[in-house]
Amino acid sequence: MSNFVPEHFAIEELIPPVPLLPKQMQQVYASNPQKLFRCFDQLALVTLDRLRKRYGSCLINNWKAFSPEDALDLSKKHIFRFSGYRPWECEEGATLSEHRMFRAFDCKFRNVSPPEIWADMQAKTNAPEFEHIQRIEAFEGMSWFHFDTGQHERYGEAVRVIGYRGNSAGLGEYLVNKVY
Ligand SMILES: [Zn+2]
Repeated sequence: MSNFVPEHFAIEELIPPVPLLPKQMQQVYASNPQKLFRCFDQLALVTLDRLRKRYGSCLINNWKAFSPEDALDLSKKHIFRFSGYRPWECEEGATLSEHRMFRAFDCKFRNVSPPEIWADMQAKTNAPEFEHIQRIEAFEGMSWFHFDTGQHERYGEAVRVIGYRGNSAGLGEYLVNKVY
């Protein structure tokens, strides 16, 4: 039996450079990289594929395109390493970030901006691309689309909007037209 494997994303796009993974994950990677997809929330992976189908080219992590040395050189900020799974030791982001729980992605779409996607979500919160999304982050000037399938008090009934320092790019605390 095999596990769910996204159509549009390789495992390396969703994890940091392999030496930064927990030891157990490194061992799994060495024997069968595809197995690591099992760590992720399946509905988050499904959503990732659906967003990619609708909006086109989407970058998560790109460390694989660089040399192993550069991939591990955290001073090279143009290299994305932690836009998918983020190990507990990683200093980027919040302590309980959904990225650490394998259910958040920072999508950089080539042809569409985050505000355009937020507008789509407000108009069609239940579209297949958005139906499993539970939380988004939104603030003015954001250059990536963060979504996750994390929990909140209105789980399944609304999309929680996480702003930054009181700024949520004009969106309310929830996108509420979510119906199951
Ligand atoms: Zn994020």
